[in-house]
Amino acid sequence: MTRERLYLFDTTLRDGAQTNGVDFTLADKLAIAGMLDELGVDYVEAGYPGANPIDTSFFSERRPMRARVTAFGMTRRPGRSTSNDPGLVALLDAQADAICFVAKSWDYHVRIALETTEEENLASIRDSVRAAKAKGREVLLDCEHFFDGYKANPAYALACAKAAYDEGARWVVLCDTNGGTVPHEVCKIMSGDRVGIHAHNDTEQAVANSFAAIRAGARQIQGTLNGLGERCGNANLVSIIPTLKLKPEYADKFEISVSDGALGRLVRISHGLDELLNRAPDRHAPYVGESAFATKAGIHASAIVKEPKTYEHVAPERVGNKRKLLVSDQAGRSNVLAELERIGLSLDKDDPRVTRLLDEVKEREAIGYAYEAADASFELLARRMLGQVPHYFDVEKFDVNVEQRNNAKGQRVTVSQAVVKIKVGDEVLISVAEGIGPVNALDLALRKDLGKYQSFITGLALTDYRVRILNGGTQAVTRVLIESTDETGEHWRTVGVSANIIDASFQALMDSIVYKLMKSGAPA
Ligand SMILES: [Zn+2]
Repeated sequence: MTRERLYLFDTTLRDGAQTNGVDFTLADKLAIAGMLDELGVDYVEAGYPGANPIDTSFFSERRPMRARVTAFGMTRRPGRSTSNDPGLVALLDAQADAICFVAKSWDYHVRIALETTEEENLASIRDSVRAAKAKGREVLLDCEHFFDGYKANPAYALACAKAAYDEGARWVVLCDTNGGTVPHEVCKIMSGDRVGIHAHNDTEQAVANSFAAIRAGARQIQGTLNGLGERCGNANLVSIIPTLKLKPEYADKFEISVSDGALGRLVRISHGLDELLNRAPDRHAPYVGESAFATKAGIHASAIVKEPKTYEHVAPERVGNKRKLLVSDQAGRSNVLAELERIGLSLDKDDPRVTRLLDEVKEREAIGYAYEAADASFELLARRMLGQVPHYFDVEKFDVNVEQRNNAKGQRVTVSQAVVKIKVGDEVLISVAEGIGPVNALDLALRKDLGKYQSFITGLALTDYRVRILNGGTQAVTRVLIESTDETGEHWRTVGVSANIIDASFQALMDSIVYKLMKSGAPA
């Protein structure tokens, strides 16, 4: 049976950028675009050229991607021609495969917000679609407040959609802009097959509304990674994609551009976005949350070991998640064994050292360490237990200070300085460094002079530094995650935990240096 094609349109970089507390840099946007391309969505709506410098620079050059790079913007302003509207001109000039226009489709908004006539709004839609087609772009029209508009004046809402359609827009996207529509209304109002759905989550039904739209004929689904978006967010593609691929109700009828392999990386992609936003992943997120396939010990757990299907609606591996049996040694042990195998240490599952390592990991994770996010620290922990990590050097003491004062020009400046006393064999080395902050100063001082080991760490560079406060309040503990790289291009991550941010940073920095020495084969 041939399946119908459903198209996925991601707007993490446009609507998702409206999320409270989210501020994408250009580098963030490019990194997320890469994740979306890896996932395999059809369209990546990357922003609003002309609206801010970051979006403008995103669209200033071709961004080679598998997905269709889409620029977002408004149809021409009332009373202007397409060539005399700077906003529209910038949009038409954007380096994009497709242009998604947004236009009002609620007569009330046309009169009150746009302060123009219904006919002029239709003309604006027609002219804008025509101008973008003439530029060789694929054209989409987002009909803003379509469902409310339809309830107020169905003929006018449909006329807006039809105006775009008749001019050759490939997609007319019906938007539940304020998120107030419920699924049975979507079913009733939606029709046509060159239509898309853009649902917001204000009644916690954005995903349900998207599926209602598919059943009613929509063939393009808009959404964001992890449901980012204005107010309560957009439809969450991380929930929609696995349902489309794993539930026979949809999988038998529809085909999407996300491969089985990419689906298997869904957890990594979802958590990768959280990492980038410096947010803790939602443990209870459907499909990708840490608890999505977690079962408490007891009768469920023993049944699940015998036959996972008894308690799981899909196999966790399909989305890259893991079955987790809480309070069960079994699950932790197999995770640890899998990790050991990954780093090339094969131990028998009954080896007492595996139990010791498991206990150590559990103890440390209970106080805030996160080894899933710190591969190199885990490897050091495991190899230390096996006596495989040479004792390279000792840090006898360090001292970090932060001073605020007036400089020679009378300007107020804050200066950080670190002094580190290291013992390498019998040699004592003291290094001093100034940095742009205390952690930077400490890092520079630590790596300034490692004596006979210095040549092994010259290629070492820090590429990321993240701080998260755990528990909150006065009991707060700080977790520092550091990502490092070297001349070989390998990246590794290390972790430190302490009530003191400098101490947590020191642990993570030390792990990074020792890992580098070990992997470079520095002699003991
Ligand atoms: Zn929206």
